[in-house]
Amino acid sequence: MRPEPALPVSGLPTVAIAGRPNVGKSTLFNRLVGRRQAIVADTPGVTRDRKEAEAVLRGRMVRLIDTAGLEEAAPDSLFGRMRASSEMAVLEADVVLFCIDARSGITPADEHFATWLRKQNRPVMLVANKAEGKSGAAAAMEAFSLGLGTPIAVSAEHGEGIADLMSEIAEALPPPTEAEKAAEEIPARRRRAKKVEKKEEPSLSFAALTGPDEPSDDTAPDEFADEAVFIEDETAAPGRLRIAFVGRPNAGKSTLLNRVLGEERMITGPEPGLTRDSVAVMVSDEHGEVQVVDTAGLRRKARIDEKLEKMSTSATIEALKLAEVVVLVVDATLGLHEQDLQIARLVEREGRGCVLALNKWDAVEDRVAVRKAIFDRLEISLTQMRGLEVVAFSAKTGAGVQKLLPAVRRTAEIWNTRVPTGELNRWFDAVLDRHPPPLVSGRRLKLRYITQVKSRPPTFVVFGTRAEMLPEDYRRYLVNGLRESFGLTGVPLRLQLRGTK
Ligand code: GDP
Ligand code: GDP
Repeated sequence: MRPEPALPVSGLPTVAIAGRPNVGKSTLFNRLVGRRQAIVADTPGVTRDRKEAEAVLRGRMVRLIDTAGLEEAAPDSLFGRMRASSEMAVLEADVVLFCIDARSGITPADEHFATWLRKQNRPVMLVANKAEGKSGAAAAMEAFSLGLGTPIAVSAEHGEGIADLMSEIAEALPPPTEAEKAAEEIPARRRRAKKVEKKEEPSLSFAALTGPDEPSDDTAPDEFADEAVFIEDETAAPGRLRIAFVGRPNAGKSTLLNRVLGEERMITGPEPGLTRDSVAVMVSDEHGEVQVVDTAGLRRKARIDEKLEKMSTSATIEALKLAEVVVLVVDATLGLHEQDLQIARLVEREGRGCVLALNKWDAVEDRVAVRKAIFDRLEISLTQMRGLEVVAFSAKTGAGVQKLLPAVRRTAEIWNTRVPTGELNRWFDAVLDRHPPPLVSGRRLKLRYITQVKSRPPTFVVFGTRAEMLPEDYRRYLVNGLRESFGLTGVPLRLQLRGTK
């Protein structure tokens, strides 16, 4: 028997993460929401109060509530604090994720809370966190004793078990409401829109973009970093490409937007995947429609009390998350700036396809020299996006702008590529023959096979004995080979290594 439906505060199904302090609720929250939250999280005071976010789990958008940190305001005893903090969220939730710490085992506080939860008559999923590795999974089973069903072993910190958890949550959700279904189906309300206004953007400082713990090249892929991103993409309307124009202030993004919009200015309303503050503008050519997402963050003026660079950075990230292919607009009269490369690396990190748009081409005097300088810079500084499409035009006069959408479409196609496993392994055998993997501590690594586990962006897994010990330069050799042999240019490419017994 299902209890009363949760309060439709946002119209979205609600998932609450509950449990005693320190079991990893916030870590799990960040993991389920995806990277954006984690990136924004280094702004003190902003995220500390943020206990809710929208997350997309297997194509369903949910409102996720983290009950961690709400404890401070509550009464004294541990259980009192836990209960007060979680009670509201739990009573509102469609699904409760009850988190325990598999490493420390079941504590009396867990038991107490479990008993209380069972009485609330809400669908509860028992999540045993910190269960990384084999021993962790075994420890998780101890939680059976709580009488809340089979524990789901995860490691929020390491990303293990998260994809399965997402599936299970999605299955436990109530069926989509009419409103949710409608939001997914209608190509949105369309209305005549005003001319896109010139926005004022603060100047960017990109220190925030590449913190030391945020690897910006493809040498250290976090296996699950893309999971949420990938899944989120499923909300995009099928067959309609979603892009964003990003770049430094004054690069010409709004001029470009107005140019490609031409006379047909349409703005579409709320759609899955779009946040409250974003709109998607439809542009079309003879090949069909493309949505340009335009986030309020990119248009909005920074508020006085906010750090300017943070604003723009998070706005850029917001736009990246909504887009499939990103058009990086640069002012060609200024050449390729370090900040442009920083944005490109951000695009790479978020797993998006990229097209480089050299704007203000009308104002460039020595086009040959500028083009060469830019390509040289790309070759040296942006190897992780090797071969990306470069389009030069003038948004102001319109000359050359017609080359943009075709380049975007080609990149999207590459981003969606699936290479058949047979073809992939014939290639793999030839590559291994030509240049066998090196010895590691005196023993040869046996690489057995390769498979593409997903697209958007193309992601491959190599299996083999002790494959995880493969030296980085060999991994890079494989990545470059994949890129060249299958034409996977202008998109990030992920390669993971899995050891087999
Ligand atoms: P909360 O109080 O329940 O929100 O817990 P936090 O998310 O703040 O995490 C508490 C501590 O547990 C932090 O030090 C995390 O780094 C750590 N932690 C979270 N998830 C994991 C995990 O999967 N494995 C391990 N080993 N530690 C974790
Ligand atoms: P945004 O901040 O990236 O949105 O940049 P804007 O679209 O507001 O453009 C910044 C400035 O560059 C404006 O003065 C535009 O007129 C100018 N601009 C934009 N595109 C071009 C172009 O193709 N050629 C030239 N010469 N100027 C341009």
